[in-house]
Amino acid sequence: SKVKDMSAEVADSNPYSRLMALQRMGIVENYERIQEFSVAIVGIGGVGSVAAEMLTRCGIGRLLLYDYDTVELANMNRLFFRPDQVGMTKTDAAVQTLSDINPDVALESYSLNITTVKGFEIFTESLRAKGSQKSGRSTGIDLVLSCVDNYEARMVVNQACNELGQTWMESGVSEDAVSGHIQLLVPGETACFACAPPLVVASGVDERTLKREGVCAASLPTTMGVVAGLLVQNALKYLLKFGQVSPYLGYNSLKDYFPTMEMRPNPQCSNLACFERQKEYIQTKPARDAAAKAK
Ligand code: ATP
Repeated sequence: SKVKDMSAEVADSNPYSRLMALQRMGIVENYERIQEFSVAIVGIGGVGSVAAEMLTRCGIGRLLLYDYDTVELANMNRLFFRPDQVGMTKTDAAVQTLSDINPDVALESYSLNITTVKGFEIFTESLRAKGSQKSGRSTGIDLVLSCVDNYEARMVVNQACNELGQTWMESGVSEDAVSGHIQLLVPGETACFACAPPLVVASGVDERTLKREGVCAASLPTTMGVVAGLLVQNALKYLLKFGQVSPYLGYNSLKDYFPTMEMRPNPQCSNLACFERQKEYIQTKPARDAAAKAK
């Protein structure tokens, strides 16, 4: 297979030789496993497209890409898309570029809105589909990365992942483009996205009414690139089991401040699927403790 072929005698021109060096240097135990993993990326904008490119260059096995939008000239202040791709769906344009960079990655393009009934159905079905991938998981996916830019879409990713018991990572960049965050969400084990709703949501304000007519959000390729890097770094640590996976990592570019924190699930969470996963997590605790002791 693509990574294995060059693990013994590595030519300097081989793009995987530098990745395999991680293994020789003792950072990663088994880098070749990267090709067994499937990652779904929701939102192929400023953060998602860059995250997809990073995973592609790392030799990920399979990438599922979801977005409802098309490439516009206004996207050119961000990384990844090119002017000749204007008018293409973001997911198709991404597949075009990513398959050129690394033809070994299995790419799937889903141009749809995950918040519609039909979109949600296709989204969850595609996450469930196991294909030819290895078994031992509840879904066909190892990790979902949320790179959308609105609360409604995040809540839908949260819903799907809670229903499927699927681990995911959330990311976001502030409207003023100078800060961002990433967060790990493990259904039942950590807070879900509905466990601690943002203040504006808790007070019942409709997100759509917050959008001011004619005022567009700022965006910087730098902040988005940093957040994509933090997100994929955390994803690689989670998948390849090295270092410490961050439960939450913030980035404030004005002060170069990186806050971290951990959030337990809310036993009164309004999301029924989260509530179910919390119950399961508590019920399976003795078995987990015994397994940890045996190690
Ligand atoms: P725009 O130029 O439209 O603001 P963007 O590239 O700046 O887009 P980002 O914040 O960089 O937006 O990325 C968010 C991405 O998530 C966008 O590409 C957007 O189309 C996508 N997205 C948001 N909501 C949904 C949804 N419900 N279903 C699918 N994709 C979504």
